[in-house]
Amino acid sequence: MAEKHPRDRQRGRVYSWEQLYVYPSNGNNTQLTRPEIEQLIQKVWKRVVHDNNPPTFKFSPRLRHNAGWATATNIALNPDYPLRSIVLHEIAHSILDKLFHKKFAWHGSTFLALYIQLLVKESGFKKRPLIRGAREWGLIVKDNKSLHQLMDG
Ligand SMILES: [Zn+2]
Repeated sequence: MAEKHPRDRQRGRVYSWEQLYVYPSNGNNTQLTRPEIEQLIQKVWKRVVHDNNPPTFKFSPRLRHNAGWATATNIALNPDYPLRSIVLHEIAHSILDKLFHKKFAWHGSTFLALYIQLLVKESGFKKRPLIRGAREWGLIVKDNKSLHQLMDG
C-alpha cells in the first residue's frame, strides 16, 4: 500500500493566516518574474538542501483555484499571482518532500516553521507578527531549535 501523509489538519487555517498576515505583508512581497522565481528557488535550495538539483519551475494556467503546487522535483504556480510569499510557500513544501518525503503533515508544524523561516530570511518579514497571528489561528509551529536539528541532522 502506498505511504500516506499524516492528516493535513492545519491546511484551512494556514490559508486564512496567510490572507491576514502574509499577503498584506510586513516584508517584501512583490510579484516575481519567471527568472526571479527560478533564482529564488536555486538560492534557497543551495542554502537549505545543499545540492544542485533544485525543482523545475513552470507557470501553470490550469491552476484556477490554487496558487500553486509542489513536489521534491517540480514547482508550479498560477501565473495570475506569482507573489514572492507564494513561491516561498511552495519551496517549503518542495524541501520537506525532498528531505522527509511523507513524514510530516503537508501544512503541519514543520512546514509552518520552515515557511516562516523563509519569509523572514528571504523576504524580510518580521517574525513576531507571523508567529502571533499563527497562535491566534490555533496553528502549531515547530520551534526553531527543533527545525534546525531536523534540517541539519
Ligand atoms: Zn501549501
